[in-house]
This record gives sequence, C-alpha cells and structure tokens, in this order.
Amino acid sequence: MLRTIITTFTFFFLLLPLSVMASMEVKKIQYGYSFKNKPLYAYKIADVGSNHANRKAVILTEGAHGNEYKSILEELINSPKKLEKFRAKFHKQLAAGLIFYVFPMINPDGVEKGSRLSSMGIDLNRDFDDKRLVNQESYFLVNFVENDLKDESAKALFAVDYHCCGGALLPPVELVDDIRSKKIIKAAQKSISPKFQLANTKKFFGKKFVGTLKDYWFSKLGAYSLTYESLDLESNDAIDKQINWWHESISIL
Ligand SMILES: [Zn+2]
Repeated sequence: MLRTIITTFTFFFLLLPLSVMASMEVKKIQYGYSFKNKPLYAYKIADVGSNHANRKAVILTEGAHGNEYKSILEELINSPKKLEKFRAKFHKQLAAGLIFYVFPMINPDGVEKGSRLSSMGIDLNRDFDDKRLVNQESYFLVNFVENDLKDESAKALFAVDYHCCGGALLPPVELVDDIRSKKIIKAAQKSISPKFQLANTKKFFGKKFVGTLKDYWFSKLGAYSLTYESLDLESNDAIDKQINWWHESISIL
C-alpha cells in the first residue's frame, strides 16, 4: 500500500506586494510522487482572509496523457502577471470562499517521455475508478483532493481535465443534454474558439471508456466535470482565455 497523502513540504509564496494581492494565496503542495519518484504538485489558490462557510472548489488538471500536454495551466502558476489577472477576475468568488486546485502535470513521467501512458504502462485516464487506482499518480490525486475538500468543508463545483486534440468538451454522459452543458459550450466558443463542440464521449470516440477522471469527479464528488479536448497541439488555449471561460462557467453553475 502506498503511503497516504504526503505533504512533505508546503509553502506559501506571495506573488505581488500585499496591497495588490488582497488576500489571494497560492500554496504549492507536494501531494505525492510519481512511479519514477518525480514530485506531484498541486497549487491551491484561495482567499485566506476569513473563515468561509459552504465553500466551493474548482479542480483543474492537465498532463494525464503526456503526448497531449500543452502546459496551459503552467502558464497561470508560473506567471505573477497572469495570477494577478486571475485574482482580479475572481476577486469576488475568492472572497466568498471559492478554492481553486490546479494540477499542472498529473503524469510527469508520461509528459517527460511524451507518452500517453504512465511509467507502469497504464492509461491514467482509465484508472480513475474505485476498483482500480492502480497508478500511484491517480491514487495520490484523488486522495489529496478528497481529503483536502473534507478539511475545508468544501464541495467540488467544477472540474476540467485538459487533453488534446479532439476540439471538444466532453462531459459525463449524464450531463451531455444538461442545460448547463449547452451554456458552457457556448461560453467556450465565445471565450476560446468557435470551433469547439460539445460531444458525447461514446459517440465521439466510437466507444465507451471506463475510469476517466471527469466521470470520477462527477460520480464521487458531484462536480460538473469535463474533459477538455484542445483543438490541436498548436492551437491557442492561452490562459487569459481559460480564465474568462472558467469565470463564465462558474457563473453558469
Ligand atoms: Zn487524452
């Protein structure tokens, strides 16, 4: 059995002078390690100013499939300028207690090799199932999120798992015809690209997959969740566009 959640080190870093920062805090947390012993990092972005009740959370993940990795989320966490933009945009929601969990690279071994699979040769996006969680990368991820949500008494509201290159938003099958999906795809078409389509995973790929991360967050946490299939590896998924789309989506949910 793997050791449960390790937050071997946790530190805060202030990105801008406090006056500008208001009370947004970005906390870098190591929540586990990959098969090849690479650290797994989460960035928890939240307001720490006061005690919040009925907290909501957003979960953003990227890099499950190393060959589809576009470093979209890295652009946010590595840029004080973008983080300030983010803070300005989500100022109200953060003050109301919203937490963002950002996971820029959930399969670092796969990203390093440009491989779809984990170091165990397993597709991470088929492993998110209570009966599986065979990869330590998936095991650590769900344990960290579930425990931290519990500690914060927070409920997951929205989850996006970044992939490439189908040019589609893929919700769990139960949410395909949901009115929220229709609004969220419209928001993506407006904020990111008019080429995006809303799709049913089974129809889109011609078969049903079990163990996807979006299905896990939906069934376990009740979050409105999506697989984000970027248009192609060269398309522009700039973080500014993502920030606008997240903002619109959260207001829909
Ligand atoms: Zn993928």
